[in-house]
Amino acid sequence: MRNPTAAARPLLALLGLLLAAGCSAPGAPAAAARTPAATPAVHAAPGRNPAAARAARAAAFRRWGVPLLPPPPAPPAVKPVRTGGGQIPVVSRIPTTRKIVFVTFDDGAEKDPRFVQMMKDLRIPFTMFLTDDIIRNDYAFFKPLQALGNPIEDHTLSHPDLPTRSPARQRQEICEQQTRLTREYGVRPGLFRPPYGDYDAATRAAVRSCGGLRAIILWRESMQIKDVAFQDPGRRYHPGDIVLAHFRGPSELKGESMTAMVRNMLRSIAAQGFTVAPLEDYV
Ligand SMILES: [Zn+2]
Repeated sequence: MRNPTAAARPLLALLGLLLAAGCSAPGAPAAAARTPAATPAVHAAPGRNPAAARAARAAAFRRWGVPLLPPPPAPPAVKPVRTGGGQIPVVSRIPTTRKIVFVTFDDGAEKDPRFVQMMKDLRIPFTMFLTDDIIRNDYAFFKPLQALGNPIEDHTLSHPDLPTRSPARQRQEICEQQTRLTREYGVRPGLFRPPYGDYDAATRAAVRSCGGLRAIILWRESMQIKDVAFQDPGRRYHPGDIVLAHFRGPSELKGESMTAMVRNMLRSIAAQGFTVAPLEDYV
């Protein structure tokens, strides 16, 4: 283990305080973790003292019980998924040889301030696919996650099984969610995930018609309560796999917290020698 430099010690002490605040108060109100003071100083440090920043990052991973994941590699000069052609691409794995996977969180039900703190500390890149009916009771919860650089993408207004709906209704579900997310978060989504992964030709036509959506995103692995469900019978991640997780808490996780679920997922990714990269850099 690296000895912290003199310059790093105050930073580490501060980090310890921040982490203690983030970890010890499961019942704390959401606002407590969203105050500006909760933004960890460690993330402001790289420009000033890279060694201290690295040490603080390693300490944050230890504190959350997650193996130290390498930072994402530099984004490719050209996105490997081509978009903007005649057909909307449907993507569940990104073409790449790098040992990276892409993490996505869906729906938006659980709004756990400790998850916000965990992501502020670890800076794992991820994409959120949000449904209006599920997030409208607290749009603000997702803003600090977005402020960390994690995009908010389209997952319909009400989470229907789209192929059972008329083309007009599908279009409404997808395009109106574009409009609402743009209004709430100031950025027009570029990616769409159909609820349950179900889509048909009308879905693709609707996605194309909304304006701004460039791809339909599915997944290769899904995070369960403690284990990852792999589509690969060998239970292996492959370079470029997209991993599905949800904003879920104890009521849906048999008492487990969202941060425990995320910790298990990151352990599984690290155990196979992978790290996590931002999906939007590749699509
Ligand atoms: Zn969903």
